[in-house]
Amino acid sequence: MSIKNSFKNLLPLTEVIASNPQMLRVNPSILRFLNNYMGKFQIRRVDSQLILHSHLPPLNSRAYARFVQEHLLAKTPGPSHGQIGLTNACPQNCACCYNKNRQGKVMDKETIIKTAGDLKKMGVVWLGLTGGEPLLNKDIIEITERISEGCAIKLFTTGSTLTGKLAADLKKAGVFSVSVSLDHWEESTHDAGRRYAGAFREALKAIDIFKNLGMDVGVSAVLSREMIRNNQTEDFLRFLMGLEINEAWLSEVKPSTESYRNPEMVISEEDRLKLVNLQDKYNRQGKMTVNYLGHFEGKECFGCNAGHKMVYIDAFGDVSPCVFTPMRFGNVQEEPIKAVFSEMKTRFPSESVCFINKNYRLIQKYAAGQPVLNKTNTLKMMEEVKFTPLSHFSELYYRQKTGQPATGRQKMANKPVEEI
Ligand code: SF4
Repeated sequence: MSIKNSFKNLLPLTEVIASNPQMLRVNPSILRFLNNYMGKFQIRRVDSQLILHSHLPPLNSRAYARFVQEHLLAKTPGPSHGQIGLTNACPQNCACCYNKNRQGKVMDKETIIKTAGDLKKMGVVWLGLTGGEPLLNKDIIEITERISEGCAIKLFTTGSTLTGKLAADLKKAGVFSVSVSLDHWEESTHDAGRRYAGAFREALKAIDIFKNLGMDVGVSAVLSREMIRNNQTEDFLRFLMGLEINEAWLSEVKPSTESYRNPEMVISEEDRLKLVNLQDKYNRQGKMTVNYLGHFEGKECFGCNAGHKMVYIDAFGDVSPCVFTPMRFGNVQEEPIKAVFSEMKTRFPSESVCFINKNYRLIQKYAAGQPVLNKTNTLKMMEEVKFTPLSHFSELYYRQKTGQPATGRQKMANKPVEEI
């Protein structure tokens, strides 16, 4: 925790508690954890929103009040975070795209809206709109308008095809934060990774458009292990600070697709900690939030909640534990998301280590050359998966719930959603 950040956060946190007094009913050990966690970041004001970082709803929003009520107090067994693919179409062709070669019948507008509505009823308070390039879904404004009440909507985009009008409509429809993809500070390297000439320029243009509207703007960057080990992350972060964006959302390349299922490319715990330390260093400076997914999902924080508090529905309706896990538990065009999630969750206790980083060899074994495991192979594979202990947060969370020391497989956590 940074003392400087904690001091700067005092006033906004007072506002948060004033607007959401039920925070004070949260168990003290969880509150202490959250206080320490928040102390690593500086709360930023964007319009009237108080934002810690873009992986949580604004702290003074109804979505955050729901997070406190439904997850921290009522401990709903449903997910808190979801992502929905609005289309698999994309002008770019990234080598590391986790959606590559997914196929099926595209979800229509009403299916997307119904699924998002069901997710909210189950507890989702943060929803990422992704793709493909989500801006290519012509219904994106209507979809956003109809799902954003009480739920923080974050947009992940390459920036391709964005216009000033579309950006303004997205803001009005309820997008609280945008992340534009940018993987390198050199135009040629970024374009080569995206296999699309002009990707870099389109991203920078989109960042400017969103910034001019006063939106919460970040960059989402996928770092290769080579970049992390060659100490190039700092060069990149310095470049991003020059763009005067609010947040750098960092992740390492995940072994989601065949060409990345290579032990030479998957990061080690040492690499992860290196990024955590960089994140903390930049956040102490307070000029741009650095939000490394491997920290949020690390053992010292919330852990990996794939299939547990996180769910991904791709553009074809297939349900996976998270965007990076090419496994299929069902399809929302065939059965309700609640039933699919409930079954998936019985197999996914929260754990402390990234599921895909740990289990990519098993995925490889059961993929049989397919980009996404079918349900039969998914279930077979799950019989071989060994889960790690809970993260620090989940230890506190489930200990509170059962009154007993938490164990790896939580009976309560594993109850089907219908039964709770
Ligand atoms: S599998 Fe990895 S990327 Fe997916 S939710 Fe877990 S930690 Fe995050």
